[in-house]
Amino acid sequence: MPIYDYQCEKCEHAFEKNLGMDNRNQPTTEPCPECGELSVVKTIGGMPALGKLQELDMLKTGKLPQFFRDNMKKVSEKPGVKGTKYGENMKNFF
Ligand SMILES: [Zn+2]
Repeated sequence: MPIYDYQCEKCEHAFEKNLGMDNRNQPTTEPCPECGELSVVKTIGGMPALGKLQELDMLKTGKLPQFFRDNMKKVSEKPGVKGTKYGENMKNFF
């Protein structure tokens, strides 16, 4: 089973779960195991949540390093990402 990454936006607690594809969004509907807030978001491949990505300075300035573009491209091609809105959003980055 694939391992998915999650992070709490409240306390920034990051954790992984071994779940089937169908259940991969389940932890985002459950309280954070650390602080109990319903602020868990799914992160992809150890990358920060997309909401946080947009706060990064390099995105504000439009200066994206090549490694970052390559990385986004790689992640967007992953099974479970490709064809989703996350995958589509990532195309803005490369
Ligand atoms: Zn938390």
